[in-house]
Amino acid sequence: MSPAAADYDLVVLGAGPGGYVAAIRAAHLGLRTAVVERDRPGGVCGNWGCIPSKALLADAALFAELKTAAGRGILADNVRVDYARVIARSREVADRQAKGVEFLFKKNAIAYRQGVGRLARGGVTVDGERIGARFVLLATGSRERTLPGLEVDGQIVVTSREALERPVLPASAVIVGGGAVGVEFAYLYATFGAKVTVVEMAETLLPGMDVDLGRELARAFARQGIEVLLGHRYEGLARGEGRARVTVAGKDGPRTLDAAQVLVAVGRAPLSEDLGLSEAGVRTEKDFVVVDASLRTSAERVYAIGDLVGPLLLAHAASAQGIVAVETMAGKRAAGQGLDPARVPMCIYCMPEVAAVGLGEAEARARGGEVRVGKFPFRALGKAMATGHTDGFVKVVSGARHDEILGVHMIGAGVTDLIAEAGLACTLEATTEDLVATVHAHPTMAEALREAALVARGEGINV
Ligand code: FAD
Repeated sequence: MSPAAADYDLVVLGAGPGGYVAAIRAAHLGLRTAVVERDRPGGVCGNWGCIPSKALLADAALFAELKTAAGRGILADNVRVDYARVIARSREVADRQAKGVEFLFKKNAIAYRQGVGRLARGGVTVDGERIGARFVLLATGSRERTLPGLEVDGQIVVTSREALERPVLPASAVIVGGGAVGVEFAYLYATFGAKVTVVEMAETLLPGMDVDLGRELARAFARQGIEVLLGHRYEGLARGEGRARVTVAGKDGPRTLDAAQVLVAVGRAPLSEDLGLSEAGVRTEKDFVVVDASLRTSAERVYAIGDLVGPLLLAHAASAQGIVAVETMAGKRAAGQGLDPARVPMCIYCMPEVAAVGLGEAEARARGGEVRVGKFPFRALGKAMATGHTDGFVKVVSGARHDEILGVHMIGAGVTDLIAEAGLACTLEATTEDLVATVHAHPTMAEALREAALVARGEGINV
């Protein structure tokens, strides 16, 4: 099909944070754009991920504050949870999110089609009907992975998908996987009163992040009564009368864990099958679509972003990639000007929260150059003491030679918002000297970043 004969300049498959943001940017750039979504606008993020899970976690944090408020002179007797209502509110938030995205499509004159899309010559098909497009952007996301024997039944064995709408709090839960989703659900369930065990194969929680973060989180979880089994591998499951018996194995041998529910949180698999990829010449590797720095696939005029391409699997990464892709298509961005993964922050919203951007200490050291590390504990900070949130620290990793900030790693209350300053510092290629020269308001939790930079320079004041 000639470009002029195409129905649209761009058809986007998938209306998650990758697809919908890309579509809006494309419309801003004057591309005639359509979005095809098989489920609801907002994708996993809006409907089954970021937003509904953060609604639940916000309620858990509120409940945790109320439970301990008596120690601060706030007497609220008989505080209980109506878990079905907590879930219902989170679903309402997700519904609002989906409607918001649909409104944005209308506002930006983007055609929205509900249906299952698939690549076809010169465009796509939607439930078999052909739509011509000059460019196609694949943004179909991912789905939950499971393990053999842990097939989801929605009652005893669930993934985050079922857990987000199940109105019953399990009395006890084994969570297989100590990554972001696993630790968020561990905090959620334990705060509302469930007995929780997290089983993680690696030697720390949050594998892949700076190890100090996972270690500190494990200590905080222990204080919250959450059992964490590190270096333990899931071996098998026996389902009984409304109960699960999970076998795990660590260096001391096998162990069985009884629980009302098993939550599988072992990562996500890209939704790349049934998209007509191989017929269209789109190369994949381990099911992820292979892209270059501009998010171009191996097929001409076909781009791909988000969870479908990995490995970041974060909503804001998907959105940022979507912008890169459509700006490249529209000729507004030179080929190769992509997204630097070292500048993409990663946040986890249990309590204490966890946030990081850039290189971890071990990664920075492995690169060979000399590094400096500054760590500042929240317990030494006035605002943390005043608010009663003294768990955690901020850690700054910088290059010894040029003083550039290589990475910032935080654990504590509110750090998922504090990380934005560190992200900006990385974007501007700031130094610890710049952080120190920035006057931070007192008392704020943000002062901990400046204090950690001072420590990295050997000039610590409050520690
Ligand atoms: P998705 O959001 O998965 O959207 C893809 C869309 O494509 C879906 O709506 C799907 O229905 C649609 N689709 C699939 N196939 C087709 C087809 N053939 N035709 C038409 N439509 C199709 N990330 C964060 O950054 N912060 C968080 O706090 C966070 N929390 C999370 C919590 C949980 C429990 C989970 C599971 C994930 C969380 N994530 C979080 C990850 C985040 O949700 C994903 O990284 C993000 O949604 C990926 O965006 P995407 O646009 O690539 O894909």
